[in-house]
Amino acid sequence: MNLTNQMMGLLLMATLVMHSVQAADGKIVIAHRGASGYLPEHTLASKVLAHAMGADYIEQDVVMTSDNELVVLHDLTLDRVTDVAEKFTDRAREDGAHYVIDFTLAELRTLHVTESPAANQRFPAGASRFGIHTLAEEIELIQGLNKTTGREVGIYPEIKSPWFHHLEGKDSATAILRVLRDYGYDSMDDSVFLQTFDFNELKRIHEELFPALEMEIPLVQLIAHNEWGETMEWDSKQWINYDYNWMREDGGMTDLAVYADGVGPAMDMIVSYDSSLEEIKISNLVGRANAAGLQVHPYTFRLDPGRMPAYITDFNALLELFLVEAGVDGVFTDFPDVAVRFVDALVD
Ligand code: CA
Repeated sequence: MNLTNQMMGLLLMATLVMHSVQAADGKIVIAHRGASGYLPEHTLASKVLAHAMGADYIEQDVVMTSDNELVVLHDLTLDRVTDVAEKFTDRAREDGAHYVIDFTLAELRTLHVTESPAANQRFPAGASRFGIHTLAEEIELIQGLNKTTGREVGIYPEIKSPWFHHLEGKDSATAILRVLRDYGYDSMDDSVFLQTFDFNELKRIHEELFPALEMEIPLVQLIAHNEWGETMEWDSKQWINYDYNWMREDGGMTDLAVYADGVGPAMDMIVSYDSSLEEIKISNLVGRANAAGLQVHPYTFRLDPGRMPAYITDFNALLELFLVEAGVDGVFTDFPDVAVRFVDALVD
């Protein structure tokens, strides 16, 4: 190699380093329940695919079992994505549902996980063989892939319904934090965001659990619409539906920033569903969150038929609207490959 070639090589390397720094500073793609547009949500297969597709972070929804193990499942109940009703004929609660928290890990391991039959444009329901795994097993998978591929992909666990776990006598948040700490996620520099819809629990984590466990990692407050009934709160007499409205009112983001490092709003909190192609209505949520020092990661970007907002017809245009025009810092998507291609094109 002559001097000119060496110089060229150095220049090329400098360019590559600059690109990776820009990418690190830039927008992140969070694989929502894995590459769940292509494989059944929260299966290890969907996580491997998300990693291979170049996602920056991979999401884990975490629920606790009757024997205090942590498993990666979206719902508190098993009925939507498993064959539990066939395998355990007398274990439903009065509402007819089978709750994860009523089963041991060993029992859950006998279940087959499937794509929801309702999602008929996705992976065939009942096809192939998928099962339930623990949070630790998933972290080991992602960290193993990080080692073999040389790509540092982060984790994005969600503490599902902490209020429900407390009601059942369980402290899932502490258990999740212990697992994260055991696997090296214990400081603000680590590739992790811990998310929850439950502000009371987020506050408890920040004020009590972090100091007690001698750790601190980035926290994300998820924001729901009140009518979903996502979070219940004990008001000293009874359980009431948590009122999220303050978070989006004046000063709300500043108050959240005392405890959180980011927010996860529903996408219509940023671009109203009243929008049309001619008139896109963007709220001031991103500006107010960023001004308070909070990152903004809205959910959920889906491109399958009927699952994009009615005001837009092209998925890349939707990504452009949120990531460029509205200026969000990252997106939760079931289709990480498409979002990664879009973000990579922004960096170039
Ligand atoms: Ca989630």
